[in-house]
Amino acid sequence: MRLITCLILLHFFILAACAPAPAATPAGIAEREVANTPTATPLPLPSPTLPPSPTATPARVAQAAPPPVSDTIAEEAPPAPTTTPSAPPTPTPRPPGTPPRVGIQIGHLRSHELPEEQAHLRTSTGARWNGITEAQVNEAIAVRVRDILVAAGVEVDLLPATVPPAYDADAFVAIHADGSTEGARGWKIATPWRASAASRALMEAVAATYGVITGLPEDRNGITINMRGYYAFNYRRHSHAIARTTPAIIVETGFLTNAADREIIVARPDLAARGIAEGILRYLKQRDPNDGAALLPPEWPILYTSAETAVRAGPADTARLVARVPADSRVFVFNREGDWYEAMVRAGDTRYVGWVRVDQTRPATANDNPAPPPAEPPATNP
Ligand SMILES: [Zn+2]
Repeated sequence: MRLITCLILLHFFILAACAPAPAATPAGIAEREVANTPTATPLPLPSPTLPPSPTATPARVAQAAPPPVSDTIAEEAPPAPTTTPSAPPTPTPRPPGTPPRVGIQIGHLRSHELPEEQAHLRTSTGARWNGITEAQVNEAIAVRVRDILVAAGVEVDLLPATVPPAYDADAFVAIHADGSTEGARGWKIATPWRASAASRALMEAVAATYGVITGLPEDRNGITINMRGYYAFNYRRHSHAIARTTPAIIVETGFLTNAADREIIVARPDLAARGIAEGILRYLKQRDPNDGAALLPPEWPILYTSAETAVRAGPADTARLVARVPADSRVFVFNREGDWYEAMVRAGDTRYVGWVRVDQTRPATANDNPAPPPAEPPATNP
């Protein structure tokens, strides 16, 4: 769609991964054998010691912007669920009266400390503008989100780029800011590819408050594979990621490269924080804490196209055509609406994200080559 985050890229691997999403992901992304099974084992949650938040209010920024540096990094495609998924993990029961626990992640903070499994993201330092780093902006907002939540009785883990293994919480919210050379502006929020009902509810709650409180416009068509493939969502691939049952979103609070957006995300981090925190509180209030099913991401079998099939930008025959793919293209489903699957469709070495008709797919058969396994879209760190 738009090369929002494909700006100045640090090396060719990054460049290769930063396709004009979501139309097609790059060819040649290696795939791997299924390596691990998702678990939701709760682990001790270290509260990372963060450096003090910036003492000075970030300076108002001048007009002449140097080219921002993007941090979009894609990983090789992780394994998709197999045809025989393991038993769904049971969401961790929380004793009655336990305060809700929420992880607020400061995007890119101390990314150089990422563990070996995410070593390729250590150089992912985020967008920049005029000497201001994205991590500084993210942190100024995140500490204020924490303060609001704590005042409301929520336990908060303020997390750097490194997520505790199988991070198990009532919500995980990654805070980021964007960069663009194309004048883009506005905020957007995304869930993981295969989003639980709880992740969707969390996204809707924050979306309902952030725009109203900040007055910033929504970047409606800006959500890309780079957000939904966020590395911290990828529990199938990484131990340092959310637990499968942790409701999760990534918030792009606005564009560092846009003066009007900076008026909020740089100059008024309190407003941006309130926009996020009030949405989280709304979600926590509305949810049914006993509804474990809402926490489980949907599982879909491996499917193939049964004929030449249109991949469309929405769940309708009139929606924009993304691509035509041949019969027997692999279909990685992450959502269904009516007669349509939202999916990543792999045709040859090209992957398309969009919608295909349910009746133009078929189950895998013995004739379908089982290797390589179907791939999720690449995991990224926008
Ligand atoms: Zn970022």
